[in-house]
This record gives sequence, C-alpha cells and structure tokens, in this order.
Amino acid sequence: MIAFTDVRKVYNQGSQKVVALDGVSLLVKPGEIFGVLGQSGAGKSTLIRCVNQLEKPTSGSVVVDGQEMTKLSGDKLRQARQRIGMIFQHFNLLSCRTVVENIAFPLEVMGYSRLKRRAKVEELISLVGLTGKADAYPAQLSGGQKQRVGIARALAGEPKVLLSDEATSALDPQTTRSILDLLRDLNKRMGLTILLITHEMAVVKQICDSVAVLNAGKIVEKGYVSDLIAKP
Ligand code: ADP
Ligand code: ADP
Repeated sequence: MIAFTDVRKVYNQGSQKVVALDGVSLLVKPGEIFGVLGQSGAGKSTLIRCVNQLEKPTSGSVVVDGQEMTKLSGDKLRQARQRIGMIFQHFNLLSCRTVVENIAFPLEVMGYSRLKRRAKVEELISLVGLTGKADAYPAQLSGGQKQRVGIARALAGEPKVLLSDEATSALDPQTTRSILDLLRDLNKRMGLTILLITHEMAVVKQICDSVAVLNAGKIVEKGYVSDLIAKP
C-alpha cells in the first residue's frame, strides 16, 4: 500500500545540510498497522510527511496505492491526498468551529452537497464515539475527544491510508489506550492501512503489526512486532 525506495531528504539549514532521511526503504502492506519508532530528530516526521508529499524527498520513490507520489502536483496531488488521512499530536482543529464544522470542512472542500455532508458527518461522529458532542467547540473537549474529532475529519474522504503523527503523545496513558483501541477497531472494520510514527515502544506493542526502527535517518531494524518482541 505504501512503498518507500531509497528515499533521501536533505534540508538546508542556513549554510549547513541536514540529512533527515538517508536511504529509507520500507513496505507497508494493505490492512496493516505499521509503526516507525525512533527518538526525537531521527527523521520520523519527515518520513511520514513524505507519504503525502508535505515534504518532497530529495531523491527516491514513494508509491501509495500504486501511485508514484513524487511525480504528482496540482489537482492530481490534491486528489491523491484525499485518499490519505492524517492525524496530529496537537490535533490541528479549527478552534472557532464546532465538532460538526471541523469534520465537515474537508467535505466542503471536496464539494459534497449540504445534505450529503450532514449524513456523512453524522456517520463519522457515531463511528468515533462523539455522539452528543456535535455542537461543542474544541476548547470544551478533552484531549481524547479532540483526537476523536481529528480522526473523524481524517476519515471524511474515505481514505485507504491513515497517517498518524504522534497522535497519542499529548494524551495520558488511559486516553492513549482508548485512542489506540479506536484505531485498531477502524483498521479491523474498514481494512484501513495505518502508518504511525511514535517515540514510544508501548504504542508499537499495543497496536502495530510491523515496526521499523529509525535512527539518524536510517532504518536500523524492521520486522513483525510478534517476531521482534521476545516472548516469555
Ligand atoms: P512537532 O514536535 O510538533 O512535530 P517539530 O519540532 O517536529 O514539531 O517541527 C515543527 C515544524 O518545524 C515541522 O513542520 C518541521 O518540519 C519543522 N522543523 C523541524 N525542525 C526544524 C529545523 N531545524 N528548522 C526548520 N524547521 C524545522
Ligand atoms: P523526528 O520527527 O524524528 O523528531 P524530524 O523529521 O522532525 O525528526 O527531523 C529530522 C531532522 O531534520 C532534524 O535534524 C531536524 O532538525 C531536521 N528538520 C526537520 N524539518 C526541517 C526543516 N523544515 N528544515 C530544516 N531542517 C529540518
């Protein structure tokens, strides 16, 4: 579903060059939850942002659902991005809009009619367990509820792939578990492929099928979580 082949990303920081990704190759299979684990500065954000081309790789290939992402631009890129949802550490909600309005926002952009939007938003609100919160503003929600809004918004375009950028790092352990359970449930029910980045082994252990360990822009280990975690 997602294939990276020898991806390099070099940033210019003033006169210095920083190699954020140094020849990354990985394969995320359809329906899999794939975790990229690494410390701060390892290149995780850069890697996940290369999937939907929020960052352009300096070289290498990124294929998502059969499409070479690095070759897309303009409308073609926008259409491809609609098939890739993304959730964020700090939720990235519009603070002056209600739950309904936040979730409806991508549907407006995609040109859904009022009626279709209403039906879709209702479905999404129930899917993520936010019934009764439709007219609340982000400031009135808990962290876990905000992330549920983020997840609903990410699923509005019926993506095949969901990208999770440290989605539980701002949440307490109990809320983290409930959000990871929701992601696992969506993965099972809809066959959603999930690529997540995290600095926490516990997240990988709880929901990932496969994991790649990223260190200084290089993948130093990868495999099935069940094989890599020693069994008693
Ligand atoms: P977060 O932890 O919330 O993801 P980051 O510190 O990773 O925030 O970075 C926030 C933004 O700044 C990202 O878009 C990232 O690409 C960019 N960024 C990160 N490091 C640098 C840097 N050294 N110089 C310029 N921009 C950076
Ligand atoms: P992680 O998500 O694992 O913390 P990042 O991908 O954010 O790692 O960063 C990897 C390296 O790339 C860091 O050295 C960071 O400073 C640098 N970097 C990230 N984004 C930018 C940017 N927009 N401009 C310059 N340097 C960046």
